[in-house]
Amino acid sequence: MRKEYLFTFVFGFLLLATGCVFTGEDRAAEGNGVTIHSSTQATELISSYIAHLCTPEFSGRAIGSAGNDRATEWIESILIGLDITLLNTEVPGISFSVDAPELLFSTMIITTDIGEQVTLEHGRDFFIALSDGDVDFKLSNPDSSSVGFLDISQSNLIGTVDWDLIFLEADHFRNNLTPNYREGVLVQLSSEAFGKMKAYSLLSVEIVNRVQYTPYVVRNIVGLIEGSNQDKVVVLTAHFDGVGSAGSVVFPGGLDNASGVSALLYIAQELKQVSVQSPFAFDIALGFCNAEEYGLRGSRGLAKVFNDRYKEVTVINLDCIGYVMDSSIAMGYCNSDQMKDNIVSLMSEHGIVYSGEDALPGDHMSFVSYGNTALLLCSPGFGSNDIHSTASDENSVSAQLVCRLSVPIRWGCSLVQVTVISWPFILL
Ligand SMILES: [Zn+2]
Repeated sequence: MRKEYLFTFVFGFLLLATGCVFTGEDRAAEGNGVTIHSSTQATELISSYIAHLCTPEFSGRAIGSAGNDRATEWIESILIGLDITLLNTEVPGISFSVDAPELLFSTMIITTDIGEQVTLEHGRDFFIALSDGDVDFKLSNPDSSSVGFLDISQSNLIGTVDWDLIFLEADHFRNNLTPNYREGVLVQLSSEAFGKMKAYSLLSVEIVNRVQYTPYVVRNIVGLIEGSNQDKVVVLTAHFDGVGSAGSVVFPGGLDNASGVSALLYIAQELKQVSVQSPFAFDIALGFCNAEEYGLRGSRGLAKVFNDRYKEVTVINLDCIGYVMDSSIAMGYCNSDQMKDNIVSLMSEHGIVYSGEDALPGDHMSFVSYGNTALLLCSPGFGSNDIHSTASDENSVSAQLVCRLSVPIRWGCSLVQVTVISWPFILL
C-alpha cells in the first residue's frame, strides 16, 4: 500500500466511522468481543478525559513538573488497561532529557506620567510564558503606537475572561503575536491590570524575567497495536504537555491539548478492539508526545524511533481540536496534495467542513523533517485567550466536537476488516 493509500485508509476509517456515529443509533453495540460506545457514551468518556486532564492534579502538565509526571502515569495506565503494548521506556527517544524552565523571578513595573509606580506580580497580574526565557525589557515614554492593547474580551463569548494581551514593542507596534523580546514582548495581563494599563498615561514599562533551566528526564508514551505488516506504521499523535502554571494560576491546557489526547485515548480503545478480532495490515502507533510546547522535543525523538524501525511512516497529529465556537476542521501543513484532497472530500462526505489551511505548527513537523507523509488536524478560529490561558481554555473545547472527529463505531470497524484492500482505492 502506498503512503497515500495507507493514510487514506486509516483516516477514511476514522472519518467514516465518525460520520456513522451521528447518523446511526445512539446506543452501544456488542458482539464478537468488540464493544463499541454509542455517541453519547463516547462523548461522555471524552468529556471525562478532558476534565481529568484539566484538574489541578496535573497543574497544566508543564515539563519537569509533578503534574507532567502524573499525566504520564495516567495515560500509561489507561493504555495498559486497554492491553495496548507500550514501547519500552529504554528506547532512546521514548525517554529523553529536556531542560525544563523554572521561573526564578519576574517583575513588571509601570510608571505613570505623574510618577506613580505600580509593581505587578507575575502569576497574579501578568504572565509571560516560561518558554520565552529570560526577558529584559524597558520601554520608556511609550506612545500609543508602541503599546498594543489587544482587547480580546469582546470576541470571547464563553467562560471568564481572565487575561488580556498587550504587546510592547520598542520601535513601533506591529500587529504580531509572536513573542520576541528582542523587539518587544507579549504579556498577558489580568483584567484589572489591563484596565490600569489602559487608564494610565505611561512613562515607562519595565519587565525583568529570569528563568532557570534544569535537565529532567521526561517520557513520550507510545502504545503499539501490531499489524500483519510491520514494515509500515500509521502514527497518531497528540501532545499531552502544557505550559503549566504561574504562581497560583494554572493553565489547564484544555483545548491545547487535552482535546487531542482525549480523542487519541478514545481512538486507541476502539482500534485495539478491532485489532483483537483481526489485525490491521500495518502497525498503528499511538504517540502521546511530551515537550511539544518546548520546541517539539518529544516528537523529534519519536520521529527518529519510527524512522529507524519502519520503512514507511505516516502521521496524523491532533492538536487543538473541537474548538467550541467552530465545528469545522483545518489542516496544518500537508506534504501530499493527493492525501489532502482525499481527506477534504472525505470530510465533506461526512458533514465536516474543511476550513482551509492553518499555520499552526506542531509535532507532525518533526516527522516531515524525515520525509514522512504527515498532517496536522486542528480547529480553526480560536484566539490567544483560548489556549495557554486559564479557565477559558478548558471551556474552549467541546467534547462533542472532539468526539465527532474521532469516534470509530462498530460497523466502521467491520467495514475496515472486510474491505481492507478495496475501499481506500475508491476514495482516490
Ligand atoms: Zn498544542
